[in-house]
Amino acid sequence: MTPLILPNKWIEKCQGENGMGPLSKQFLPDDQESNAEGYYDPIGDHNHQVLDGLIHRYQNRVLFMPTKVCPVACRYCFRKHEIENEKDQQLFSPDMHSILHYLKKHDEINELIFSGGDPFSLSDEKLQDYLKQFKTIPHLKWIRFHTRYPSMIPNRFRERLLNILTETNNYFSGVSIVLHINHWDEWDQEVQDCMDKISQTGCNLLSQTVLLKGVNDDVDSLTTLFSNLAFHIIRPYYLHHPDLIRGGKHFYLSLDTGRKLMHQLRDKLPGWMIPQYIIDIPGGHGKVPATNSDSQLFQGYLIDRTGKTHPYP
Ligand code: SF4
Repeated sequence: MTPLILPNKWIEKCQGENGMGPLSKQFLPDDQESNAEGYYDPIGDHNHQVLDGLIHRYQNRVLFMPTKVCPVACRYCFRKHEIENEKDQQLFSPDMHSILHYLKKHDEINELIFSGGDPFSLSDEKLQDYLKQFKTIPHLKWIRFHTRYPSMIPNRFRERLLNILTETNNYFSGVSIVLHINHWDEWDQEVQDCMDKISQTGCNLLSQTVLLKGVNDDVDSLTTLFSNLAFHIIRPYYLHHPDLIRGGKHFYLSLDTGRKLMHQLRDKLPGWMIPQYIIDIPGGHGKVPATNSDSQLFQGYLIDRTGKTHPYP
């Protein structure tokens, strides 16, 4: 089973819910994880790995994955089985010579996304070193970081890291920080202070949320989350349909349920507060909108970017 990785403060928060609330369900181990349904690599990342630590799935952007370390082990995570492998918990040194060569050759790539793991598990020095190397790629315009650190360990954003973000944002056309947050109970004053500091770096603030059965699959939770994020100048960007990860079946919900929720959200929130509802087609066929036919019942298949259909349960 995926190990428990959770900062102490969060263990207390889960205890405050008696192990029953939206935080406990996301972060505490559950016997239901022994259910063997689902995939070890539900989104087919490995089909698009062009080099160790580099995934090129969409034309204009690459995922750079210099670490598999996270501040938390989310029980629904599509990479949860990589966390189980202790060897994978180490930082590793991607072959930067090959990565830079690949990026130079592909001038259609204009965005590099730091992922992982969580990219802010890297030291400031390491982060700065990678960014310095990426500055040598003239067609790279946008940098993006996906992270849970601002809520899990807000203290990670100290002066030096904030300065690095400011410098990076000034150098490139823009830097986006995508906060991973699934429920408004994850927010507190420390998170707010951290996000306020990050906003002063000039970076673009976005959020991504995973729709999870028993955690946030009701219109009130989602309305509260997205409206409060917008109030704090964080644009709700993505709402992911849960990936079919093995051991995460208790979080799965149907596409029809998700589409109905999106429909209800339109009644509660202005369009600009509603994130894109997306689904990763299992097998590495990419992200597609999960709402493309929400006026109809789900027909049992998804259509990828090339127009091919794929059966979906
Ligand atoms: S922080 Fe993100 S990558 Fe890390 S375990 Fe949670 S969902 Fe997965």
